[in-house]
Amino acid sequence: MDLNIDVSNDLSSVGKLKRVDGNATVVLEDGYNLEFLSGEGVDWSLEMRRIAGAVEVSGTVSGSVTLTCYRCLKGFGFPLSVRLREHVLWLNEDDLEPGDERTDEYVVNGGILDLAPMLRDAICLALPSKRICGEQCKGFCPACGIDLNLEQCNCDTRKIDARLKPLADLKKRMEENAP
Ligand SMILES: [Zn+2]
Ligand SMILES: [Zn+2]
Repeated sequence: MDLNIDVSNDLSSVGKLKRVDGNATVVLEDGYNLEFLSGEGVDWSLEMRRIAGAVEVSGTVSGSVTLTCYRCLKGFGFPLSVRLREHVLWLNEDDLEPGDERTDEYVVNGGILDLAPMLRDAICLALPSKRICGEQCKGFCPACGIDLNLEQCNCDTRKIDARLKPLADLKKRMEENAP
């Protein structure tokens, strides 16, 4: 989804204002890779004000982002409401040397303001590090793989995950050696 906004006319001189409202379906792919797709889910309502050499952007981003549950791998909506206040540098064509990259700042380049990096940063900061659809989520059975939220199985779930085996062995040895 294209989040580039042409502000070349609307914010051509200091003091000018522009309102930008929009919405998208926002999905978190693996890690912190946010996708913006056409649709409902997250709304933003922003006011842009042209100041000398920059644009001040302020407003709100709210709605629901689709995350993937770590335990059951199903998508679930995470509600969010954040305030956004950012400073966006206004670059003129002759400000940019060839090869000059300003990756650490938001910029208006050639009269175009790309909302994506700003929205992405604001939303990512609000996301939980523990992404589970609910505390009660049981996830999958590690042995047979069925969704334990929907079905029960008869697997021996006391079996230790192979990755934890060395730890369990150590614990056992320590218990055996205990006086
Ligand atoms: Zn879950
Ligand atoms: Zn099972």
